[in-house]
Amino acid sequence: MKLPEALLRLLYPSRCVVCGEPLPKDAMICPGCEQYVNHPAKKNRCAVCFLPADRCGCGKKLYYDRVAAPFLRDTPAKRTVDGMKFNGRLDLVRPLACFMKLALDERGMTENVDLITFIPMDKRKERKKGYNQAEELAKELSKQTGLPCLPLLEKFGRTPSQHERPTYLSRSGNLLGAYEPIRTAIPAFEGKRVLVTDDIVTTGATVNEAAKTLLIFGAESVSCAAAMLTPKKRPAKNESRR
Ligand SMILES: [Zn+2]
Ligand SMILES: [Zn+2]
Repeated sequence: MKLPEALLRLLYPSRCVVCGEPLPKDAMICPGCEQYVNHPAKKNRCAVCFLPADRCGCGKKLYYDRVAAPFLRDTPAKRTVDGMKFNGRLDLVRPLACFMKLALDERGMTENVDLITFIPMDKRKERKKGYNQAEELAKELSKQTGLPCLPLLEKFGRTPSQHERPTYLSRSGNLLGAYEPIRTAIPAFEGKRVLVTDDIVTTGATVNEAAKTLLIFGAESVSCAAAMLTPKKRPAKNESRR
């Protein structure tokens, strides 16, 4: 992976972004961690979900076009992404978004996006936590690409909400998913190619649900950028791994 080194050094000087080890001057990631970067040139990647082809779960109906992500979960990058997600390490958002941008560029996806949005959190959970890491990644990616970032979706919790869902449900036929468009945002994404960010893509079900909603309400296409992908477990082998 080609790194814009001057920029990366500025963002994250002298420490590996993944393992935190001290680095030689012009590197962003140490040689030990570099091997875990999810490089498209590595062989046998699924064209859609970007996982190693023998560990992808594609096959069901997909509403999104493609996914780009710099790291796989069963690597040292897990700690970095978990730090951002669970431990308030928002200082890791910038370097992770930097790697996401590189993954998007390498997949030729950046030029096919008009608008960036993110997987929303349940509002109560977000208030309690104080941030939505998917939103933080989207905002940073917006800065790095120059593409606009807008909240387009809301997540509905288990409790009934004040929103008038029936209108949407009737419009979308069988849509019973967790996401609905933010009503006032619909004109902003009609006819647009939308990139949805999330921290980790595991089964793809979340992104698929979000993509379905965006398409029903007029988006031209939906793609996804994540910091990390979770491959399907290898059969039998490596059971001691978490
Ligand atoms: Zn490292
Ligand atoms: Zn796949």
